This record gives sequence, C-alpha cells and structure tokens, in this order.
Amino acid sequence: MPARVLVIVEGGPSGLDRRDNAAVSMARRFAVETGAELDALVSGATVALPGTWSRAWLLAATDARAIAAEAAAITASGEHMAVFTGETPLGREAGGRLAVRLGCPVVAGVQAVRMQSAALHLTRPAVAGTRSATLVALKLPAIVVVSADIAVGEPAPSAMPEPSALVPAHLFDPPELLAETRLSPWEMDVAEAEVVVAGGRGVGGPEGFELLGTLAQRLGGAVGATRVAVDLGWVSRDRQVGLTGRTVSPRFYLACGISGAIHHALGMRSSGFIAAINTDARCAIFSIANASVVGDVREVVPALIAEIDRRRALAATEREPVGSAR
Ligand SMILES: Cc1cc2nc3c(=O)[nH]c(=O)nc-3n(C[C@H](O)[C@H](O)[C@H](O)COP(=O)(O)OP(=O)(O)OC[C@H]3O[C@@H](n4cnc5c(N)ncnc54)[C@H](O)[C@@H]3O)c2cc1C
Repeated sequence: MPARVLVIVEGGPSGLDRRDNAAVSMARRFAVETGAELDALVSGATVALPGTWSRAWLLAATDARAIAAEAAAITASGEHMAVFTGETPLGREAGGRLAVRLGCPVVAGVQAVRMQSAALHLTRPAVAGTRSATLVALKLPAIVVVSADIAVGEPAPSAMPEPSALVPAHLFDPPELLAETRLSPWEMDVAEAEVVVAGGRGVGGPEGFELLGTLAQRLGGAVGATRVAVDLGWVSRDRQVGLTGRTVSPRFYLACGISGAIHHALGMRSSGFIAAINTDARCAIFSIANASVVGDVREVVPALIAEIDRRRALAATEREPVGSAR
C-alpha cells in the first residue's frame, strides 16, 4: 500500500488561504490516521505550514498546468495514496488536470476521507447538501478537492518546510494565450467567482439587481441571489445561492438586502470575507458577516460604486507621468 500523501497549496504574502488551510488540515489528519508521510507542493511563494513535513517542493509558477505537471512528477513513484488541494479556483483546476494526467479519480467538496478495508473512502455532500455520498476510489492516488466548509483544527503555523526541490517556472512552457474573454457578472459562474455580489428581496426588483451587476463588474465578480429573488423572477435560477441553489466560497461575498435565512447561509457561509448591507440591524446575516452596514442598498450600493470610481480615477491620475499634465 502506498504510504505518502501530497498537499498542493498556494503561497502568498498573507499566508495560507483559508481553503488551502482546510486541505492541509484534512491531509494532516488523514496522514496521522494512516501513518502516511506528508509531502507539500507549494506554488508561488514560501508560506508557513502547520506542523512537520516529510518533503516539500517550492514551485515558482502559479499556473495550474505547471502545478499539475510537477505533482504528476512527484507522484510518479506510485507511493501516494491521495493528493489534497483546496477548493480554490487554482486548486480545483490543478486537481482536475492532475487527475487527467494520472488517469485517477478526482472528487470535489470532500468533507471526510478515510481508509477502510484497504480502500479509500471519500465523503461529500449530495442532493443539494441534504444527504452525503461516500465514494470509493478505484485507483490511487485519489485527487481530493477539500470542502472549504470543514472545521480546521491545527497546530500553529511553523516556518515553510525546507524545500527538497525548487522548480523554477521557466522549466515549463508558458501557457499560450489564444484569446481573452472578460465575463460579465451575469455570465460568470457564481460558484467559480472570487467575488460575489448577491441580492435578496431587499434589493427591490430587477433594476436593483442591475445596480448590483454594476458593482460586481467593478469588482470583477459575479451576481448571486436568494431564492426569493429568483422566485420573484428578478434574476435567473443559475444565480441562486443556498441549499437548493449553488454553494459558493468566494474570497469576498457581499449580501445586499438578504435576511440570512439558514437555507441561504448554508450556501455561502464558508466565504472568505462576508459583508452585508441591510436596513434591519437585527437581521440574521449580520451574525455571520465580518462587516455589517445598516442601511438601504439603494443608497449604499451607488455610494460604493461612486467611491470605487473616484479612487480608480485618482489612481489613474497618479500613474500619469508628471510631464503629461497640462
Ligand atoms: C427547502 C427550502 C430550501 C430553500 N433553499 C433556498 C436557497 O437555496 N437559497 C435561498 O436564498 N433561500 C432558500 N430558501 C428560502 C429561505 O428560507 C429564505 O426564505 C430566503 O433565503 C429569504 O430571501 P431574502 O433574504 O431575499 O428575503 P427576506 O427574508 O424577505 O429578507 C429580505 C431582507 O432585506 C432587508 N431589506 C429590505 N429592504 C431593504 C433595503 N432597501 N436595503 C437593505 N435591506 C433591505 C430586510 O430587512 C430583510 O432582512 C429555501 C427555503 C426552503 C423551505
């Protein structure tokens, strides 16, 4: 039986992303339970990782293709039972690419993993989160994209493990850019977006959602909605976040005119930073928000857009060469 596990994480100046931290946490627990050695592949920059590590690789590149290629090389020895990634866009893409390279299974949204009767069992939500399904990996390593929603209980971060190998980015061909398409907030998949500006009944109607679209466009994000807003016909069903909609985990979630009912919260509570705007200071969404604004979305959202525009105009002026001013 192979006796190693690999975790793929992205380094950065502000440390480990919460979703990568979930991957590290699950991989570490699994390694302890199975007595496996723990390896790390860190892309981008050095980062403190909790606990002790057997081996670590630091990859200068931060594109999914290079990460998958390096992870395939690391796991070529056949010793790895599982490769864990966070539920970040990079983790998901690298995990998918690695699965294709290795011809191995990839399972996303994994909430538990265990070895039972020499087979790897992976548990993830099913039927819109009302049930859980346990899948058995028929080939190893299984690529495990860890749910951002799991509880993370870890030793304090230590230093970056001493890299056993440093892989410079130039070893890989740079990806060829064939075309670049900027998706609008209405085209962008709400579950893939790093920023979600979501609205509920308090937005007041389709025109209110147009305003949210303008803000989402400024922030490079997608528009999300509650089921009430969808049922009222203000937005299409693919925008719905929650138990019977999509589960999202963006870096930033802005809830506008949303009460914060549990059915909605279940789909967005694992977001990195949650801000909420609501006229009711006692609304439930404020209890899970990192920042709360008591106010009318029809006043606060235009003010936010105006402030973003003002700061961008100011930044553009400051970038202009001094000589160009007339
Ligand atoms: C089985 C089941 C599954 C469900 N699945 C989902 C799901 O997937 N997703 C989902 O979202 N819901 C789901 N629901 C519905 C859920 O229970 C709530 O009814 C819904 O989320 C509430 O939507 P809301 O916040 O838009 O509306 P409301 O609860 O009516 O809240 C509107 C909020 O807007 C505020 N407000 C009003 N005017 C303004 C203003 N001008 N400015 C700022 N704030 C204002 C109010 O204070 C209030 O807090 C489900 C329900 C059931 C029974």
